[in-house]
Amino acid sequence: MATETALPSARPSQRIGRFAPSPTGLLHAGSLVAALASWLDARAQGGLWRVRIEDVDTPRCVPGAGEEILRQLATCGLHPDLDGDGEVWWQSRRGEAYAAALQRLVDAGQAYPCGCSRKEIAQAQAALGHGHERHGELVYPGTCRHGLQGKPARAWRLRTDAPDGSDLTIDWTDRRLGPQTQNLSQAVGDFVLKRADGLWAYQLAVVVDDAEQGITDVVRGEDLADNTPRQIHLQRLLGLPTPRYLHTPLVLAADGQKLSKQNGATPLDLRDPLAALRQAGQALGLPADLPGTGPADWLAAAVPAWAARWPAPSV
Ligand code: GLU
Repeated sequence: MATETALPSARPSQRIGRFAPSPTGLLHAGSLVAALASWLDARAQGGLWRVRIEDVDTPRCVPGAGEEILRQLATCGLHPDLDGDGEVWWQSRRGEAYAAALQRLVDAGQAYPCGCSRKEIAQAQAALGHGHERHGELVYPGTCRHGLQGKPARAWRLRTDAPDGSDLTIDWTDRRLGPQTQNLSQAVGDFVLKRADGLWAYQLAVVVDDAEQGITDVVRGEDLADNTPRQIHLQRLLGLPTPRYLHTPLVLAADGQKLSKQNGATPLDLRDPLAALRQAGQALGLPADLPGTGPADWLAAAVPAWAARWPAPSV
């Protein structure tokens, strides 16, 4: 796109951040916060900023939304640095890389085919005496871990047990939320890498792409923090580095819920991009009175304010 700037490819010590929107709609106040935070963090560290359109869940994607998001970002002065291939990455074109990662996990005995329907998973849970559900997803009781028992394969799942078969706990530190811990085996269970409808799951796609794009710093909304242990588990199994994580405060709708199309997350009114940036900056704890008469000079003033508010760790 004409608005993108081609930069030299990354140096080994180069910090690289990214904004990875799903084109299920246009940018709204909440997604602009994540875009701005990831841009500021990359710039404050003298790093590169990638944009990746996460259009793996094709039935939920809105035609044209990815292109429009790139235009919205450009209106706000947020221009992605391009990858070596000169393109913004679109996950719908990355199936081969995800297939190769899945194959490695299968070969390592960590991923397996699952033939269970949602109903069967619910029944197996009921038999175990618990009906555990996490964000609408049932915690998988591991039924097909040791074979399909004659059922046809539907989805592919990742094991979430430790090498000795005990529960796997993932500890990690978020730059804003501090030390975090999750018993992955119990809280999530063996999770899906490739769905029954043949689509790649977000968890696998995001891990493969973050690594291949050399992402060192993930800055994204707090609603995604809960996915981080799954992603760290995948990184470890695939021998990939774990980026640093910073999860930003959520912008809530008037009803106190996460912003969504259902509760009025109307697309941003970008006739006044400076006002939209100022509002996003305030959600990130930046001063309300940063100078600026347009996006470019406001952003320039916001970089040191971000660095003071969210200093990058020294390692
Ligand atoms: N595509 C995801 C979303 O829009 C974000 C992924 C990420 O930042 O890791 O919710």
